[in-house]
Amino acid sequence: MDITKIKDKMFVTNLSGMVSRLLKNFFIFSWICLSFFCHFYRVANALEMDEQNRERVVLEGLIANAENKYRSIVYKNEKRGVADMRKLLKSSRVEECWVYLPEEEKWVEIGRGETPEKKVDNRYITKVSLDVQFLEELMTENSSLVVYHIHPTYTLLLEENMNERREDGHAMNANEREKERALFLMRRVFPSEQDLGNMIENTMEFYGKNPYGNVSFKISSHYGITEYRLTEKGRAHVVSNSYFECMKKIIVMCRTIKHDMAVAEEICEQKIRKTINLFQRTKMNSKQKRRNPSRIKKDFKSQIENAVNTVSNDYVKITYVPY
Ligand SMILES: [Zn+2]
Repeated sequence: MDITKIKDKMFVTNLSGMVSRLLKNFFIFSWICLSFFCHFYRVANALEMDEQNRERVVLEGLIANAENKYRSIVYKNEKRGVADMRKLLKSSRVEECWVYLPEEEKWVEIGRGETPEKKVDNRYITKVSLDVQFLEELMTENSSLVVYHIHPTYTLLLEENMNERREDGHAMNANEREKERALFLMRRVFPSEQDLGNMIENTMEFYGKNPYGNVSFKISSHYGITEYRLTEKGRAHVVSNSYFECMKKIIVMCRTIKHDMAVAEEICEQKIRKTINLFQRTKMNSKQKRRNPSRIKKDFKSQIENAVNTVSNDYVKITYVPY
């Protein structure tokens, strides 16, 4: 047999083998992709179903429900609900979210995936997600609602900062710790950038369903209740034909407010430091009349109120009410 013919035959055999291997691999790859997609789709759907079918349990008071085995429902007015949250602030290691329905005086848990604060790559991360699909259902069924969440008093960041030895090698003394804690708790009054972003997106969603309704967002923290909402002008500003444009406006809005908040926090921090220094000096000098600690707390609250009042703009309104 001619050697070229043998080579040609081998080439054709190799080529057809390669094509069939490629086709086989392609089918295997497609099958894996399809199976993975089907599996993922089934898992995602199952999770969604679980979330929707989460058993609803009526409780006596608000709790931080990190296990998410059921959805807690509490019947009590806003004032009594806030009293529950104030207790939770001290004990809870996770943030929790609820929707308060004023007409029914009902609290519905909407937080999920709550995880305690963790240190990851020198960053302190706390996670809580909103059950968005369930929130949308509540928005469709109710024309008035308040979305609440808590900023707990304890955080790992503060504890680790206070325990860290300073440059001079000394640990913080009791007075310094008191100061750090007061300053930290003052900052917890303000919404985070993520809080603002969620609020704007959910407000737009709400008014899409309830043009004449009323929605508001509130944080319960150590020094009081902070309410943050999008004004009518803010809503008109965000509306856009393109989703991308809309998101761009929300991001710019959040950054502007966050910048103004940082300035307000800085000014408030200086004032609180002065108040504490004055209080501590008075405490050390026994001949002087002692300043009442509750008077000091009242001073803090009015300083925080002044700071928060400077942050609102035409689009976002932030107000603070001390307990
Ligand atoms: Zn928050």
